[in-house]
Amino acid sequence: MKTTISTILLALAPACINAQDADDYLESIRNNSAALTAFFSAMPKGGDLHHHYSGSIYTETYVNRVINNNYYINRHSCIVVKDTTGQGGGFVKFAVLGDSLPYYRQQLMQKWSVKDYNNVSYPSDKQFFETFSYFKVTSNDSLRPGLQELKNRAVKENVSYIETMFTGIPCNISMAEMSKYAVELRNAQNERDEAKTQQILGDIYTWLQTQDVKRYAESFNSNLVALHKNAGMDDERFTMRYQNYVVRVRDPLTVFRSLVVAFESADKSPLVVGVNIVAPENDETSMNDYWLHMQMYKFCHEKYSQVEYAMHAGELVLGMVQPEELTWHISEAVYTAGAKRIGHGVDIPYETNAYQLLNYMAKNKIAVEINLVSNEFILNVKKDRHPISLYKQFGVPIVISTDDAGVLRSNMTEQYVLLAKRYPDIKYGDIKRFVFNSINYSFIEEDAVKEKLRKDLKKRFREFEQEIADLSKH
Ligand SMILES: [Zn+2]
Repeated sequence: MKTTISTILLALAPACINAQDADDYLESIRNNSAALTAFFSAMPKGGDLHHHYSGSIYTETYVNRVINNNYYINRHSCIVVKDTTGQGGGFVKFAVLGDSLPYYRQQLMQKWSVKDYNNVSYPSDKQFFETFSYFKVTSNDSLRPGLQELKNRAVKENVSYIETMFTGIPCNISMAEMSKYAVELRNAQNERDEAKTQQILGDIYTWLQTQDVKRYAESFNSNLVALHKNAGMDDERFTMRYQNYVVRVRDPLTVFRSLVVAFESADKSPLVVGVNIVAPENDETSMNDYWLHMQMYKFCHEKYSQVEYAMHAGELVLGMVQPEELTWHISEAVYTAGAKRIGHGVDIPYETNAYQLLNYMAKNKIAVEINLVSNEFILNVKKDRHPISLYKQFGVPIVISTDDAGVLRSNMTEQYVLLAKRYPDIKYGDIKRFVFNSINYSFIEEDAVKEKLRKDLKKRFREFEQEIADLSKH
């Protein structure tokens, strides 16, 4: 058959018309949260790229597990432990709680998540971050059913990929021999002496190589392969990949040791696709050592240039820290540490040379991971105080993600509902682009896997748009 412009247009027409129908329909329900929920529940949502494993498991799972395993609970503080050795008095087994068990179940639900939080009696950022220290007693148990819970929930709400910040890698290399460097690193940081800092990191790195640091990465990687396979994570509907992470509130030597192990692991395993940095950015140590952490990333990037990474940066707000601290975190993560994606990026309007930074991110395709529900709860940043429209205006690639749907008692659909409800300048075509970004800007290493997800997403959108087009005819 002879191909003419008109036959091409004809072939494309139904898809375009259906996309237009979806756009029209979305505009007609903009201000109706229930209708938006139905729309976005059905819409394919691609990947969730800013996702913490332990914060995404719903609290019911953790609470049921500690009750079923008959751990100990302190009846006054509601702290749960596996073993009472060295814990002081006041602990009883769940089994002896009898009729008061429902009361304690409710207490744990409220303490281990944002359930029933009243916005008054306790700071929301503390409420959020402290949950992790409470459910830590069980969050590393039963990883297989945990991963399956996340996959099942994702499949049900039409999410086809998760890139989860899974865990820190256990490593017990003693850093005592390197202790003199801890002071030297902090001194170099105080002087912002980049050459000196890189040289010290080089010395520590060389020493770490003599301590068999690779062995910790290899053992983690082989356990992960087995877990991933046994849990049946990848199939035609769903794919899972993992980011290692380091905790930014530790001393510099521990952070650097963890970072080297994390990069070693990511360098060797196609399942581990990134290395993130977690814990509250406004913590005293996080703030003091932020510059140093960026130097550590810069160092590791030179050693492991194939490893990609997203970083939490700019999860700060005026009033939480001193104003000058809002001016440089994202810039350092982008320019010095070489982050490929920025997690949150909420304080960008306060950055020195913010326009230049936004242009740089757009030009170099450094995506921003937007977490609307999380930002509203932890930072109280919402509506036009949130910089999402600024990122969009400058053409920075945007992805929509959940952060910690379990602790926040949210899901992927709710992120899109808020997005459409609060930002009328963001049209259906933009939203669809954000969804495709979540595959295009993922760190999946195998080209074939990425391509398969992209194709699958196109198919899902065709079906979704057809469904909406049919709806409009009724
Ligand atoms: Zn996060």
